[in-house]
Amino acid sequence: MNDPDVLIIGGGPAGACAASTLALAGRTALVIEKEAGPRYHIGESFIPFCAYPLARIGFLDKLKASRFTKKYSVVFVGTTGTASRPFWFHQYLYDGAAVTWQVLRSEFDAMLLAHAESLGATVQRGVEATALIIEGGVVRGARVRGPDGEREVRAAVTIDCGGRDALSHRTFAWRDLDPGLDRFALWGYFEGHRLDEGVAGGATVVASIPGGGWFWWIPVTDGRLSCGVVARREDLFVAGETTEQTWARALAQQPWVADRLSAARRVEPLRVIREYSYRARHAATDGLVLAGDAFGFLDPIFSSGVFLALRGGELAAQAADAALTQGDTSARAFADYGARMSAGIENIRRLVYAFYDKGFSLNQVMTRDPYARSDISDLLDGCFFRDYEDFFSICADSATLPGPLSDGRPIERAASRRGAAPRGDAQRSERAD
Ligand SMILES: Cc1cc2nc3c(=O)[nH]c(=O)nc-3n(C[C@H](O)[C@H](O)[C@H](O)COP(=O)(O)OP(=O)(O)OC[C@H]3O[C@@H](n4cnc5c(N)ncnc54)[C@H](O)[C@@H]3O)c2cc1C
Repeated sequence: MNDPDVLIIGGGPAGACAASTLALAGRTALVIEKEAGPRYHIGESFIPFCAYPLARIGFLDKLKASRFTKKYSVVFVGTTGTASRPFWFHQYLYDGAAVTWQVLRSEFDAMLLAHAESLGATVQRGVEATALIIEGGVVRGARVRGPDGEREVRAAVTIDCGGRDALSHRTFAWRDLDPGLDRFALWGYFEGHRLDEGVAGGATVVASIPGGGWFWWIPVTDGRLSCGVVARREDLFVAGETTEQTWARALAQQPWVADRLSAARRVEPLRVIREYSYRARHAATDGLVLAGDAFGFLDPIFSSGVFLALRGGELAAQAADAALTQGDTSARAFADYGARMSAGIENIRRLVYAFYDKGFSLNQVMTRDPYARSDISDLLDGCFFRDYEDFFSICADSATLPGPLSDGRPIERAASRRGAAPRGDAQRSERAD
């Protein structure tokens, strides 16, 4: 194809939603995805607000017709194994969004990317962006490498949706790590676990363990369960232990999960990841905007990642479309996008901090303030982009809440991590380290 209006690096939820949004706006969008076929990804539990961007790009009916598990609620389980009343989504959401899904990401991501293609976006799989093209501090596209060799793709706007390993991170090193949210996750897939009957069986369960960690319990598709534990390194690992031993020791600390897994068998090896939360200081520079995990990653306790990727991809695409219409794709075209995403992420980030604070209790907050249950439900649903100051001022009485991590303000004429931005050399590409 000729050079597109917009180059999108990465075909995960952020990239596919951005591409769909641009295709619907009549823009030419090229997605390059380094994996040739469906690939494994963690991040299986959706929240209700995923439905809105998915409906706007015309994908929701495909999700409704899928075989993925339907999720109607979230349940919290204490360290002693006592379960909370479910937070049913239908209590505060009266439209179709009151049901959401637990998905196999390999299948979901492939479906969503194919949907972007069906809307007119071009998708090239098995093609990797190896370096941003930066001229005079302005991003002009990327060098890409695929089965046919290397080439340049030039575009007025590049949206980096490359996830945690995003090329923009390797190029600019804009990420600020979130000091209070340095965690590890250890997880596996099970069959033969015990589920509640009916719609309650599709719930995501968040089950605490002593020391501030927690288990996730996510019934995905085909009778399979995704179950993992998240904790600080020092609370999770003991020197000399195998991951199997670590898993067994963690499981012994959570009676609700241990009981329901007692007759289950694990069907895949355990996986481990360090999941340090972070946010890029800048959401954009001239010609480049970041969306999804490429912009920021937040501890997954409230399953916010895919929604933020979908909504971020959509908003970044809308900003790119407006910038192309205005003929100004400089950093300032993405200022509102950066501010909006950062403010939304800050809301759910404050709830994450509260959750980890030993002095904080959802029950106590709900007892103190009659509106707190609806505020919490709104946040669990994905309603991140509104004002929660009253709610968090109550939370602040029992939890230490963080100051903002970054405001996402775009930066003009960005310098790569190797030093000053190259100027006046049209042929030069900045290679990632
Ligand atoms: C332990 C854990 C549990 C989680 N649980 C949940 C959960 O329950 N619910 C939830 O909503 N979220 C969860 N998340 C978060 C979720 O996984 C992410 O937020 C989400 O996948 C982000 O989507 P994305 O499109 O930004 O990035 P990704 O899904 O990572 O997609 C990025 C894509 O870009 C491609 N790519 C990268 N670099 C290049 C390149 N240079 N060239 C071409 N292609 C490239 C990759 O191959 C990939 O396909 C969890 C995360 C972790 C770590």
